[in-house]
Amino acid sequence: MFDQLDLDDELCRAINDMGYERPTSIQSLVIPHAMEGKDILADAPTGTGKTAAFLLPVCQYLLDHPRKDDSSTRVLILVPTRELANQVFEQAKAITKYTHLTCGVITGGINYGTDRETLAGHCDILVATPGRLFEHIEQESFDCRDIESLILDEADRMLDMGFSSIVHQIAGEARWRKQSMLFSATLEGKGVRNFAQELLKDPVTLSADPSRKEKNKIIQWYHLADDLNHKNAILVHHLRNTIESCIVFVKTRQRLHNLKDFLFSQDFSVTYLQGEMPQDKRNSALASFKAGDVKILIATDVAARGIDVQDISHVINFDMPRGSDLYVHRIGRTGRAGAKGTAISIVEAHDFEKIGKVERYTKEPFKARVIEGLRPNNKAPKVIRKQKVKTPGKGKGKKVKAKGKFKKKTTRPSSPKSKEA
Ligand code: AMP
Repeated sequence: MFDQLDLDDELCRAINDMGYERPTSIQSLVIPHAMEGKDILADAPTGTGKTAAFLLPVCQYLLDHPRKDDSSTRVLILVPTRELANQVFEQAKAITKYTHLTCGVITGGINYGTDRETLAGHCDILVATPGRLFEHIEQESFDCRDIESLILDEADRMLDMGFSSIVHQIAGEARWRKQSMLFSATLEGKGVRNFAQELLKDPVTLSADPSRKEKNKIIQWYHLADDLNHKNAILVHHLRNTIESCIVFVKTRQRLHNLKDFLFSQDFSVTYLQGEMPQDKRNSALASFKAGDVKILIATDVAARGIDVQDISHVINFDMPRGSDLYVHRIGRTGRAGAKGTAISIVEAHDFEKIGKVERYTKEPFKARVIEGLRPNNKAPKVIRKQKVKTPGKGKGKKVKAKGKFKKKTTRPSSPKSKEA
């Protein structure tokens, strides 16, 4: 319960208004340590409640230690994308609404005049994307000297997006801080480990390790598909029969446009997010999806970074993601805090190997499903794994990749009448 976390009434009232009844596992883990002023290294993907896990303790700190009259920003939260910055900013405003604390946001794509107003306000909590904030530091329109707490949210994404050096420089500017926290969907990988080593002092390492209840709320399965037409048919089946709202992930911009045109031709109302989209278009696509005016959002991974839309019933992997960590990120958009969610992957033979990888990564097997009338003609390929085979003439084995065999079975019946099996 939140009242056991020693938070001021003003904060408890705000989270009550936000509909949070009890802390999520990452919140229960992080908040007590963070309130003791410890540095935090937390493995917490989106959807686990990580934002409130860092916002609540820093807000409590600011309330306990009132600012000096002339001080500037005291808490800096760095995030990889504009959308995430705006979401964190919105949560910060909601959490602080009964307090005197002030919040601001600085991101690319906004005019510099607005930034100047934000920075002149000396807000207590500033949420920013690294690139734009660094411009202000260079132009001396932002001063990091009063920062007492530095938070890196989605640190793995910041690294992926090439912000490593800028983040290090910003952290260097904020070297008088008392506390640092790093949140990342994964703590594996050299980049995140380096970040943690250089930016944190003797951190407490915490893992979201969602409770069984939280973990089981995303139901996952996959469909084996023969080809693109078959994938389209499976997708249409789900969109017509089972789905309230969904994000459909594709691997490239070209695939996104093809799929969008195909779904339009099938009379679906669809919106989409792609990389390098003008900010106003992104905002209006997201707004119509968030408001529920459009139920289907197609996106590439890059474009969908950081978006937090409540109540997505399904995530559909029309194309499998490159890595298993991305898979976890994608499906984290459904089944958010309390709601049940479903993640469906539609895979062709050449992507089948990724299913096994995801299973090993998440340690959760997921089953194949078939839709009557849309059964695949082909069988699942045999598991592709590295095998040791003998090279003739040499005694030593050599590692080669054994390719999966893809066997033809029967032809698919033409009737599309379907019932999920
Ligand atoms: P996050 O992982 O911070 O992006 O949070 C995911 C979603 O869960 C957000 O929409 C939050 O508003 C919501 N949330 C965070 N903490 C709680 C909580 N304790 N109870 C219910 N919902 C929450």
